Amino acid sequence: MHTLLHRVYLLFLLIALASLAAGAPPGRAQTSGASPSQVAWPLHTEYQFGQYILFQAAPGAEIAAQQANLYLQVQGERNTRVIPAVKNSASAWEVNYDVHTHPIRAYSVIIYWFEAQSSDGQKIETQRGSLAYIDNRFEWQSRAQGIFEVHWYEGDEAFAQLLLDTAQQGLENAQQILPLSPPDRVQIYAYANGRHMREAIQLAGEDWVAAHTSPDMAVMVLSLPPTPEQRLEIERQIPHELMHILVYQRVTTAYTRLPMWLSEGLASIAELYPNPDYLAMINSAQVKDTMLPMESLCSAFPRDASGAYLAYAQATSFTRFLYRTYGSQGLDNLLQAYQDGLGCTRGVEVTFGSTLAQIERDWLKDAFGENPVSGAVSNLTPWLVLSGAVLLVPLVVILLNAAGALRRGQKENQPKE
Ligand SMILES: [Zn+2]
Repeated sequence: MHTLLHRVYLLFLLIALASLAAGAPPGRAQTSGASPSQVAWPLHTEYQFGQYILFQAAPGAEIAAQQANLYLQVQGERNTRVIPAVKNSASAWEVNYDVHTHPIRAYSVIIYWFEAQSSDGQKIETQRGSLAYIDNRFEWQSRAQGIFEVHWYEGDEAFAQLLLDTAQQGLENAQQILPLSPPDRVQIYAYANGRHMREAIQLAGEDWVAAHTSPDMAVMVLSLPPTPEQRLEIERQIPHELMHILVYQRVTTAYTRLPMWLSEGLASIAELYPNPDYLAMINSAQVKDTMLPMESLCSAFPRDASGAYLAYAQATSFTRFLYRTYGSQGLDNLLQAYQDGLGCTRGVEVTFGSTLAQIERDWLKDAFGENPVSGAVSNLTPWLVLSGAVLLVPLVVILLNAAGALRRGQKENQPKE
């Protein structure tokens, strides 16, 4: 929260400086055509996460406004939203904004102001207000350590401290893989219920992966139900999402151009508890000759659950191979190539002097030798059954659930484990 607020204050400062530079003294109405003068009308907001946000401005005596608009700048969006305001029974201007119909990204900061005009064309503009659009369906508790601030609503202080310690461990682990600098603050929201987490993200109009990997805000949203697997999930989810945030810090706007296999591969090799199912997935695909060409994983992963899961497994194994072969410097050079604007395959060629296809052959040879390994076909049935039912829920939730189901399935089949 501190980072968000600091950003907002900085923005206020910049706006104030800009208006001074533009010679627009506050508090005096101007005629149409000139930029509106600034007034300090009392602003008020209240909201129900995922349903509505009420924005209000109590007008002062500067002008007799005949109409007014609300301006909204949502963090991470280029376009300013403009919404006509209405006068309520208390003569305040207001907008009851339907967030269900017009989603706003969860945990973003919204900067807003009103502009009003009188019948003779005089215009005023209010000061900027800000609203941190946090999921207020829950009573969040907070705990901070170092750059991390964790928010949770179920569990005790020890649970929160475990998240903070894991985040710190994840940071150190990630920095051994790549020389990465963290942001000033990383916010961690731990939901105790996958449905609540998915609701938060679906309401934001993004699928789960996009929200989880929205590193521009340095906010991660986790689902950590109190199950026996909770600790393993903490050790997977936090370092994984943290790596996305760190890589964003490294390449900033080039982040969305990174090959998907690299972005997810880096995040996955940063996990403290490696996914035990990935190896079985790859072995199985190799035996069945269903491996996906790495080039097909440049811009997107398959949409179907089994293809997506295999894509994660391959991306992880391939990226780990790159790391072992070319080291931190090699991976950092590769990120630089993509930051410089090179495409997926070209970036690999320029960085390593081999084609993606050649390195892919080297990787397969390293992983499987000259001949494909036999055996190691895992029991995928629980996962495949699951995949049919959950295609509508966001992707990585499927993957996490599937991994859990697979592990449980294996445990049931092998009681000694
Ligand atoms: Zn990821």
